[in-house]
Amino acid sequence: MKAKFEKAFLKGIKKYAGIKKQIEQKVRQIMEHPVEFGEPLKGNLRGFYSCPVKRNFIIIYLYCSACRKKGDAEFVACSDCSNTPDDTIKFVLMGPPDEVYGIK
Ligand SMILES: [Zn+2]
Repeated sequence: MKAKFEKAFLKGIKKYAGIKKQIEQKVRQIMEHPVEFGEPLKGNLRGFYSCPVKRNFIIIYLYCSACRKKGDAEFVACSDCSNTPDDTIKFVLMGPPDEVYGIK
């Protein structure tokens, strides 16, 4: 499994340094079981997965193998999906759900 970290996600790690350990642990779990740990999102976030780190704090990510299986790549804001291997996880965003869903 390969991991890519978007700029916004890396910013989040700095911003939420207080729970960095919890975030890192969740990132590892997601990398082992991207589908089992994630909840697929709908609407304009279709194709993305969310996973809670703790109460009122989530991680948003893409799993390229899933991007493709669904055949809805055109709806998925996975910018360079065609250039990534299937087993790529892109960590996109993190934060309180209100903030995260407000961004897209
Ligand atoms: Zn993708």
